[in-house]
Amino acid sequence: MRDATRVIKAGLPAPAQGEPFLPGPTFASKFFLEGEPSSSPYTYGRNGNPTWTRFERALTDLEGGPALVYASGMAAVNAVWADTLLRTSSPRVLAMPSDGYNLARRVAREFYAPLGVQVRMAPTADPKFADLFEGATLVWLESPSNPMLDVCDLAPMIAEAHRRGALVAVDNTTATVLAQRPLELGADFSVASDSKALCGHSDLILGHVAVRDPQRAARLKRGRDEQGSIAGPMEVWLAHRSLATMDVRLERASANALAIARFLRTRSEIRQVRYPGLPNDPSYPIASRQMRRFGPIVSFELADRATAERFLHACHLVLTATSFGGIHTTAERRGRWAGEFLPEGFIRLSAGCESAEDLVEDIDVALTAATEGGR
Ligand SMILES: *Cc1c(COP(=O)(O)O)cnc(C)c1O
Repeated sequence: MRDATRVIKAGLPAPAQGEPFLPGPTFASKFFLEGEPSSSPYTYGRNGNPTWTRFERALTDLEGGPALVYASGMAAVNAVWADTLLRTSSPRVLAMPSDGYNLARRVAREFYAPLGVQVRMAPTADPKFADLFEGATLVWLESPSNPMLDVCDLAPMIAEAHRRGALVAVDNTTATVLAQRPLELGADFSVASDSKALCGHSDLILGHVAVRDPQRAARLKRGRDEQGSIAGPMEVWLAHRSLATMDVRLERASANALAIARFLRTRSEIRQVRYPGLPNDPSYPIASRQMRRFGPIVSFELADRATAERFLHACHLVLTATSFGGIHTTAERRGRWAGEFLPEGFIRLSAGCESAEDLVEDIDVALTAATEGGR
């Protein structure tokens, strides 16, 4: 089955007379439960809910390994880090990209390092990145990196980390499971924030982890249920409903991103345009082999902070907001966040599902206004 079909069928129960295709969310803190608790699939709301079960079946089908839903992408990241880094008495070493998601870097430094985890970082595209793997407990990969959009060759990188005895997790948020399947490329964990393209409607926070080893998945599930980083049924149901259109949305958003990147390349006031799907982008040779879709994110650099701010203000269709992967095209000056060491005029844009012509017109007019406004 192709992805476009799979996302629509994934996790649905067998069709039953008079029943909806996707049953509505189950709101329950407790379930009717007589006698032996193990006789019922559902007991108490923190331990399981049929709405989770269906969504996790869908994710398991797409990821190719047992999947667990979490309250947020960061809860999913922390679940993997706690399970791999904190449950070992041998040296705790986390190797991760220095240009990856900024909050993950901060949590590593500020929460895990004080617990005795040695945190090693190098840029995704640095040929010496793999030197960090020696003696590592967990290798954390992110490709494409966010927001610079460098890619790494996942399969050989994962094999190298395994050769050195490390477990490997891929933060697959930016790419999504429809672009690349980390478990198929050899990873032990595939982690994603579903707040982004999977949900795609900018209306919820959610995350998931898919795991190669079923025993480890069972342990993670116990950790989640007992430590309590669980998702609400409404969010999970909305995500499952949104999953059905994910392939269509990503197809449109990727086409729009390419159109915008191509247009930006024609404008002399733009310093650097990055999009993994542009044939002359440094990421293209690996991305075109590794990714089935190039995704919604385009990054580029304007002359300075003032020009970038004027540009964002002059856009009407492109809304200023953080995050990415939604149906509404958004952009922001990424350097406005603490901990992002990026050029002041650096913009990350996430293409949505509007018409490409409208978006390019909007950007065209705003660029002219921003550049002329500075004269
Ligand atoms: C957004 C994001 C996260 C965190 O996800 P939340 O759902 O916001 O907690 C983790 N990794 C990457 C790459 C992200 O973009």
